[in-house]
Amino acid sequence: MITSDIKNQKINVLKKVFGYDSFRPGQEEIVDNILAGRDVLGIMPTGAGKSICYQLPALMLSGITIVVSPLISLMIDQVKALNEAGVHAAYINSALSENQVTKALYNAMCGRYKIVYVAPERLETNRFLEFVMNADISMITVDEAHCISQWGQDFRPSYLKIVNLIKLLPKRPVVSAFTATATAAVKDDIACVLGLEKPFVKVTGFDRENLYFEVRHSKHKDAEVLDYVLSHRGESGIIYCATRKNVDKVYLMLKKNGVAATRYHAGLDNDMRRENQSRFIYDETPVIVATNAFGMGIDKSNVRYVLHYNMPQCIENYYQEAGRAGRDGAPAECILLFSPQDVIINEFLIDSKGENSEFTEQEKAAVRENDIRRLKKMRYYCNTKDCLREYMLNYFGEYSGRHDCQHCGNCSAVFEERDVTDIAVNILKTVNECHARFGAGVIVGTLRGENKAKLKSYGVSRYSTFGVYRGVSENLIKGVIEEMLLEGILAESDDMYHLLRAADEAQGLLSGELRMTIKWSERKEAVKPEKTAKSKSAAASELDADGLLLFERLREVRLEIARRENVPPYIVFSDKTLADMCAKRPRTKEEMLEVNGVGENKYNRYGKQFLDCIAKAKSSDGR
Ligand code: ADP
Repeated sequence: MITSDIKNQKINVLKKVFGYDSFRPGQEEIVDNILAGRDVLGIMPTGAGKSICYQLPALMLSGITIVVSPLISLMIDQVKALNEAGVHAAYINSALSENQVTKALYNAMCGRYKIVYVAPERLETNRFLEFVMNADISMITVDEAHCISQWGQDFRPSYLKIVNLIKLLPKRPVVSAFTATATAAVKDDIACVLGLEKPFVKVTGFDRENLYFEVRHSKHKDAEVLDYVLSHRGESGIIYCATRKNVDKVYLMLKKNGVAATRYHAGLDNDMRRENQSRFIYDETPVIVATNAFGMGIDKSNVRYVLHYNMPQCIENYYQEAGRAGRDGAPAECILLFSPQDVIINEFLIDSKGENSEFTEQEKAAVRENDIRRLKKMRYYCNTKDCLREYMLNYFGEYSGRHDCQHCGNCSAVFEERDVTDIAVNILKTVNECHARFGAGVIVGTLRGENKAKLKSYGVSRYSTFGVYRGVSENLIKGVIEEMLLEGILAESDDMYHLLRAADEAQGLLSGELRMTIKWSERKEAVKPEKTAKSKSAAASELDADGLLLFERLREVRLEIARRENVPPYIVFSDKTLADMCAKRPRTKEEMLEVNGVGENKYNRYGKQFLDCIAKAKSSDGR
């Protein structure tokens, strides 16, 4: 039971420490359950606000909270943000020297920290164990909890150490786990492997209404990227590529064409990575070209677009990467440039992942199988003509019943409904006649009667369907195959050959009971969402001219503080908070504390400088 006293305390901490007036969906229920001593599993999309769900109760529980987190950059960022808010927190990971670890653990033992972040590899070290066995641990929080599941896209065997740790502790603490991966298999696996006891499970809606999704089948990706970036000059954007080589190529192409861009991938040395990342975060370079090594834990709220130069490996990764656009809630675009080559690149990457020595042979095989299955679903996303948003939400187990979001490339395009029953039947006949020995390329070539040496060597000219669609577009037949895969009429092998075979749903077509149609057309130029004021933070787009002027001045004050304190500007205050200051124009401490995102601690550190800036603006514009 949560008493009114605790309720007041909770709201107080939310406002005073974090500077927020109210909880976002799901947060309060999770906090309440943790405070009532119940295990929790929180499944919320990127940007929904998972951190508050455990940081807030951590401050109210009597002992220490241990947060297991997979990425050093993520931990550093979180600890910085907590320290800025006046909360004493620390991290234990390989970024610290042995001396620093000793000091941090000593301080933790003395009760100086309420929250200690730790990398999973550190959990079984003697010093860490000595600390947890002797300290008062109130809660263990598992961030990015899908890493514990073999079904997850990011399985880390070292996450299994968490289970041993929980068992070892003299008193079982509350266990809370958080992830943005919502597939049923992963959800169940987290609860089961972590041994959550009757957990309170909260899955919040995954839809991000402000994001516009589009897939472009693209033959000239460089030109397309350049065109997009040039027509969005001054806006902040991320361009994700599958490989370092592509990152370098796109980066140089943009530079050559006069775009202020930077880049990020694991092949650059630490200093350069840090420097490039901070140029992007500090808004000095609006565009960053990066591999998926970039972005975890980065909470830059004014990213207006995320372009994918290559198709990512799975929907989970795509939704997370694309989700870095529009965290401020203003319109943003997520555009994926697809080419069939992307499938091959990703298969190669999946196979190289198996070389990771952290895995046993059995684990490697299981991980690979799941990766290939997920890749397939990602490819289907790139080929579907139905609502893209709906496809992704369904993937995460959310069914809205709406099939038309009116805010994605497919819903905005005009398609013609085309009966392709004959083509589908002939595809099935060919697949059956060749005893499922071939992939889509050979099937299409057979139907079109192509005169290629490879086809001849397979002897396909003796099939009854050879050449029945001579002269018909290759894309159309491929499109029908993709649709048949989506509808479960065809299935394909899980290896790199993608051998096609008839699936359960094929019988209806072969017997003539069912007909098949597809949506077909060259895509029309999609109707884009309305743009907000160019090159201004969208959070500020509703301000008048004076407001915008003040907004720019406040940004300068923020940048000055950020540089002095060596933290990203958004950790000082978000754009949204600055915009709220411009709208409310506070004159006193009390009024400043009414601004969304300003808590006591931050006010004490920086409030005066922002009040002065606002007062100066008032006197100069005569208000
Ligand atoms: P996630 O971990 O789910 O991706 P974060 O915890 O990083 O998301 O939060 C995303 C953003 O939302 C951060 O800028 C955070 O400060 C902000 N935020 C979280 N909770 C609230 C709230 N109750 N009110 C306003 N902003 C919030």
